[in-house]
Amino acid sequence: MQKDYLGSKARSETFAYRVNDSIYLNITNRCTNDCTFCLRNNGDTAYGSNSLWLKREPSPIEVLTQVEELFFPECNGFVFCGYGEPTCRFDALIETAKLLKKAYPLIPIRLNTNGQSELINSKESTKMLFGLIDSVSISMNASNETEYDNICHSVFGKKAYGSMLDFASQCVGNIETVQFSVVETTITDEDIEKCRAIVNKIGAKFRVRKFISENDKNPEGK
Ligand code: SF4
Repeated sequence: MQKDYLGSKARSETFAYRVNDSIYLNITNRCTNDCTFCLRNNGDTAYGSNSLWLKREPSPIEVLTQVEELFFPECNGFVFCGYGEPTCRFDALIETAKLLKKAYPLIPIRLNTNGQSELINSKESTKMLFGLIDSVSISMNASNETEYDNICHSVFGKKAYGSMLDFASQCVGNIETVQFSVVETTITDEDIEKCRAIVNKIGAKFRVRKFISENDKNPEGK
């Protein structure tokens, strides 16, 4: 069953928060994974923000309103990120992206995701991201389905890994930047190279990132 933190830890209405020159969007705390390294297991905040545990999930208009309040001239990106998996609220994700594109047509939008949208929603749903989302960053975390399951504990079990790769393949060529990431402390050097080979075959980009702690105020991604 999907882990749902609403109710048990609900605290804030921080739907948008600044990280460097981007505005991050927090539309849900739900996720189909329970990763061993997830920031949510260690605290309430990220990047110096207020608590990211939501009192309730926001409407797209509420997200836009907070973005407008927070907007600054150097802003160069909107990032659907969380404390949670944005595609667990797929309709709200699409509607919010549409509102942002209309209000800020020159600002690119990135989706940070576990890549399980086609299991959470449908295969067809991926196409709805095209033309709205400019870049996708997918948490890869492992070079095979067994290791992925050991680290990420998806509610979809071992199916999650292949579906994540399929999702990325659908996005390549339809979304400007498609990138996979792994966390350097959760994977061996040998597996990093195996991941790199898989990603190269798909035609996406690959990034080995550092573990992000609750107090990290200068991160580079999810
Ligand atoms: S996919 Fe992201 S939000 Fe979900 S459990 Fe893993 S690290 Fe946390």
